[in-house]
Amino acid sequence: MIWNENKECMSRDEMSALQGKRLHSTVKYVYHNVPFYRAKLQALDITPDDIRTVEDIVKLPFTTKQDLRDNYPFGLQAAPSSEIVRIHASTGTTGNPTIVGYTRKDIEIWSECMSRCLTSFGVTRDDVFSVAYGYGLFTGGLGAHYGVENMGAAVVPASTGNTEKHIRLIRDLGITGIACTPSYALYLAESLEKMGLTKNDLKLRIGAFGAEPWTESMRTEIQERLGLKGYNVYGLSEIIGPSVSYECECQDGSHINEDHFYPEIIDPDTLESLPDGQMGELVFTTLTKEGMPLLRYRTKDLTYLMPYGNCACGRTNRKMGRITGRSDDMLIIRGINVFPSQVESVILSMEEFAPRYLLVVDRVNNLDTLQIQVELRQEYFTGDFDHLAPLEALAKKLSDKLKSVLSISAKVQLKAPNTIQRSEGKSKFVIDNRKLK
Ligand code: ADP
Ligand code: ZN
Repeated sequence: MIWNENKECMSRDEMSALQGKRLHSTVKYVYHNVPFYRAKLQALDITPDDIRTVEDIVKLPFTTKQDLRDNYPFGLQAAPSSEIVRIHASTGTTGNPTIVGYTRKDIEIWSECMSRCLTSFGVTRDDVFSVAYGYGLFTGGLGAHYGVENMGAAVVPASTGNTEKHIRLIRDLGITGIACTPSYALYLAESLEKMGLTKNDLKLRIGAFGAEPWTESMRTEIQERLGLKGYNVYGLSEIIGPSVSYECECQDGSHINEDHFYPEIIDPDTLESLPDGQMGELVFTTLTKEGMPLLRYRTKDLTYLMPYGNCACGRTNRKMGRITGRSDDMLIIRGINVFPSQVESVILSMEEFAPRYLLVVDRVNNLDTLQIQVELRQEYFTGDFDHLAPLEALAKKLSDKLKSVLSISAKVQLKAPNTIQRSEGKSKFVIDNRKLK
């Protein structure tokens, strides 16, 4: 099923024409309403009339997270305060949170985008959907909530916390869908097993997972343990929140709501546009936002755009690949670049390990060190660490594999099941002690 065929299945020409028109209006709007943008455009000698088609976008200046922080809290707001009906903040994963104000129309568009996303996951009005993203300043909870309600399914605003009570609700209400971080989905699965229940006691069938990077192996793990099909939803508060892009039944990339958010991929060092398929930094320009429109916002998220083409699901909207990580997530260890998600893939390629790990980076005598703490699965845990010999061999097997696949040297520390801290929201996978030195 497709929520909005008119907007999700447009021909490329129609879409480009619409984007060009909306881009022009957005530039005109910020030129007249945001002194920050007027100054930036004037410095480049650009007026709104210079921006007529999507190809003109390359003339526009970039906006960075630092710009938002420098203009905290409302410096980039375009709509008058009287028009703002909701204020959210980013999680602050990489520094001070940024503030985003929404007008009533922004909230409607967000709900529409979220409804497109849920419909793409197979959610219908008959579903009962639990939203287990945090409710509050974080956009996950309320964003998903409005989308479920807007499409006419029933929403259960569970939020995070009190996991056992939540599981009982999932069972007793016959909840069929859940939105949360992949980390929390895994935590739910663990708690379910601890309560002596299995996926067969639940009717869950669809999971809307996002807000943090996750891998295919993680998807398989969650699907098997919760008995549902897990889909990827991507978004960020600065652009709108969850549902900037979403998977379809093909699960080969995520369709971007590109009538509202125009995507580009750039080389983060040279700022040059990169061709389709090439990995780089994702950049979005909002095309319809009123509260805080952004021109060429550098997300710091790393991925690639897929070539235009019709997807087997029937949608024509452009697809993007999975987010490998954020440019500021990337660890450089003794000159080798590595993302936590790559380490996760190697860990999960070995059946002895649970998808629970922590990378601890340090610098000793001017040399970077990487320690990987990883949990053993229950069935491989002998109950104590007294019989170390087989475990040492296992730790070595993992460090050898990390060396051969990712070329990194790491000291592996095996942990007993359930000993690495769980998260109800976004997980923390890295402690970089070098930053404290
Ligand atoms: P913060 O940047 O402080 O975490 P947000 O709460 O707005 O702020 O979260 C948005 C970020 O979360 C994105 O920029 C991206 O890094 C990450 N994210 C969101 N959805 C996904 C996803 N499906 N896959 C990978 N990363 C995601
Ligand atoms: Zn598709």
